[in-house]
Amino acid sequence: MRKPLIAGNWKLHKTLNEARDLASSLAENLADVEAVEIVVAPVFTALTTVAAEIKSSPVKLAAQNCYPEETGAFTGEVSPLLLKDAGCEYIIIGHSERRQLMGETDHFINQKLIKVLEAGLKPILCIGETLQERETDQMLEVLTTQVKDGLANLSATHMANVVIAYEPVWAIGTGKTASNEQAQEAHSFIRGLLQGVFTPEVALSTRILYGGSVKPNNVDGLMAQDDIDGALVGGASLKAEDFIRLVRFEK
Ligand code: PEP
Repeated sequence: MRKPLIAGNWKLHKTLNEARDLASSLAENLADVEAVEIVVAPVFTALTTVAAEIKSSPVKLAAQNCYPEETGAFTGEVSPLLLKDAGCEYIIIGHSERRQLMGETDHFINQKLIKVLEAGLKPILCIGETLQERETDQMLEVLTTQVKDGLANLSATHMANVVIAYEPVWAIGTGKTASNEQAQEAHSFIRGLLQGVFTPEVALSTRILYGGSVKPNNVDGLMAQDDIDGALVGGASLKAEDFIRLVRFEK
């Protein structure tokens, strides 16, 4: 019922030539994949280049961020409508790097999410606790606030287009992955929150990705968990061979 989704977040990496090479390799080597949804999120400047490379392949395009206005005097910002125009189907919202480095709040993230949905695009909402929050038993409280405030004012119908990514901050780019059990526990808790905030149907049908040092050697165990519906991947999405192995996970 929930189609697995493997998404690569290229962060601030890859020149146009490098992005073109990686996209073309993924398009060629993943051409036969039907059972898994594949998404890549290059930097803004590489979006249209990558869009051209993946056009006739199952690989879809995402942006890493957006601003919650359509047009106007917002120097340096990019709107969901313009990202749709560039070929995006998904937009990553509220990545922990943006929460931490740019001070993004749950309220601001919620505004973006609503604009992404209004533009007819699909947000991937990132949530997750820091190490300090986990060690001081605040994890469940943090996840509850991020889910409730991040998804405020959304209906069950909107939720059909929303993907959630659980990314424990302590596992991002650190090589430390949550154990299969830790990840499953958090995912099951988040699914329970969706049931309370929306409906049991929304809880059952919403895809919850895991993110945090997903690599070829741990993807199979993570994907075998009942409530893990895919992965949001940083480091291992930058190398074609590794990302292809993640898409071709084995249960
Ligand atoms: C990410 O950027 O969302 C991420 C999970 O990075 P990494 O896979 O490198 O930990």
